[in-house]
Amino acid sequence: MNTQQTLEGLSYSALESVLETAGVNPVHAKPVFSAVQRQLVGDDLDTAEGLLPPVQRWLSSERAVPTAGIQLVDETPSADGFTRKYLLRMEDGAEVESVQMGFPGRFTACLSSQVGCAMGCVFCATGQMGFSRNLTAGEMVAQAHHVERELRRTNPGERLRNIVMMGMGEPLHNFEPTMEALGILTDNRGLNIGPARVAISTVGYIPGIQQLARHPKRYSLAVSLHGASDEERGKLIPINKRWPLSELIEACREYSAIKRARVFFAWTLIRGVNDSDDHARRLAELLKGMDAHVNLIPLNATEGFDGQAPDESRVRAFQQMIQDAGLPSTVRQRRGIDVNAGCGQLKAKRVRG
Ligand code: SAH
Ligand code: SF4
Repeated sequence: MNTQQTLEGLSYSALESVLETAGVNPVHAKPVFSAVQRQLVGDDLDTAEGLLPPVQRWLSSERAVPTAGIQLVDETPSADGFTRKYLLRMEDGAEVESVQMGFPGRFTACLSSQVGCAMGCVFCATGQMGFSRNLTAGEMVAQAHHVERELRRTNPGERLRNIVMMGMGEPLHNFEPTMEALGILTDNRGLNIGPARVAISTVGYIPGIQQLARHPKRYSLAVSLHGASDEERGKLIPINKRWPLSELIEACREYSAIKRARVFFAWTLIRGVNDSDDHARRLAELLKGMDAHVNLIPLNATEGFDGQAPDESRVRAFQQMIQDAGLPSTVRQRRGIDVNAGCGQLKAKRVRG
């Protein structure tokens, strides 16, 4: 058996093969999948409903596939009540963050894809930690389960509607497990999240964007830009040297054409670094002619980076400039800021003690 295999990380068809190999009739995949992915029994396998005794016995036996076994370590609600941030510990002790955001009818889970990140963006708390390892599909699915369970407990009748891969790590640098996890979370026999309601955020890992353009499901693509020239972007995002802007924009245009989809661009606004009218003009120029939408995110200050967010009037002026150039945008509300909800910040705070 694949040692990384966990119950949460088994797609419906993978579960059928596992059952068959274990000598259990694969027709039992239906109730088992439902127990894991709908009832969200987690480690309480004996509470699963609808299982026949032999299947129940197999599930609880040592021969069965283990659960991801993730544990809640820390939880931080925000003052406005719209965000809850969870620090979750994996079986091997690695810790990652997941965030629940939103309000009734529009709840979103922000999931991590890696423990740390290899991309080293200078302003990012996760980048400042370095890379430890990839998360498995099961560990990503289990994060969504944690958020959904909390939602069911605190907001009866509500459910998760959106998933954003905007937590710790670069999801396209961990492509297959991320696709497996999203395949499970969008399965209509499970949580049944609509693929269009799944956003994958990338720093501009071009091989991954190209792979995603050819992936059968149509997820939403978000690309973190933050600079409109190689020189400026390269200072914030080291991997820009390997995958420069011209190639990145070409890959985005290709994605948009193949998927017939709008591409979302994130622009983290840093005072005096990328927040001038000139930056706004050059950003609009860069994305000209593309079906694009920009999310403006005022910087969350981190320990390891000497940068600040612009004041609100500068943010508005920047938005006005790109709007005048015909580029639609949204200013992302900094809901998370009082819960250290910039990616990686809760964990960084703990590590600092
Ligand atoms: N690795 C992926 C997804 C995780 S980061 C990516 O980089 O896109 C999710 C978003 O948070 C990215 O747009 C990233 O640039 C942004 N981000 C990271 N640190 C931040 C900070 N300190 N303040 C504001 N935005 C930040
Ligand atoms: Fe990694 Fe994204 Fe942070 Fe860059 S911004 S270090 S890619 S998590």
